[in-house]
Amino acid sequence: MSIAALREFVIAFGHLLDTRPQEAEILDQGGALLRRLVARDDWLPDAFAKAHPERYQQFLLHADSTERFSVVSFVWGPGQATPVHDHTVWGLIGMLRGAEYSQAYRKRDAVLQPHGRPVRLAPGDVEAVSPTVGDVHRVYNAFDDRDSISIHVYGANIGAVRRHTYPADGARKPFASGYSNTQLPNLWDRSAELRRTT
Ligand code: FE
Repeated sequence: MSIAALREFVIAFGHLLDTRPQEAEILDQGGALLRRLVARDDWLPDAFAKAHPERYQQFLLHADSTERFSVVSFVWGPGQATPVHDHTVWGLIGMLRGAEYSQAYRKRDAVLQPHGRPVRLAPGDVEAVSPTVGDVHRVYNAFDDRDSISIHVYGANIGAVRRHTYPADGARKPFASGYSNTQLPNLWDRSAELRRTT
């Protein structure tokens, strides 16, 4: 297992954002980077892959030093689900382990309603959300007998973004997701590679 895959991903994502791309380019080229990251499942430390018996977990893996982006592992216990929610910034979702469904919502006649069929994400799949491509959805574990994990990238420090949930019975509610962890994985210990090359 090597955290290097995650380090290389955040370095490449930073370089992509250095070019000041349009959102469509971020979703396209950043999506390709994320697809490569979730093509293998040998790099996520166990501490950031643990389900909680009652609620889904969102572990911050990395926040860009100027908060241009953040990387989060979402861990779904059996049957766990998010409320209907928005993001207000672009987001990329890459499936690492298990499977999840994402049900989009759109306003029709001033009422928020499910839009199309739920999309099923299998390991290696990548999906995008944003205010321009569709920002409101509900996500849930496709399994009721095992955990699922997806890796998310957002165009902000997502845990501290003011956003909303959309209860079925009324007005949207302010929401700031926060994170489930207080400690981050160490991406930056390169001493092993150094020793290998000296
Ligand atoms: Fe979401």
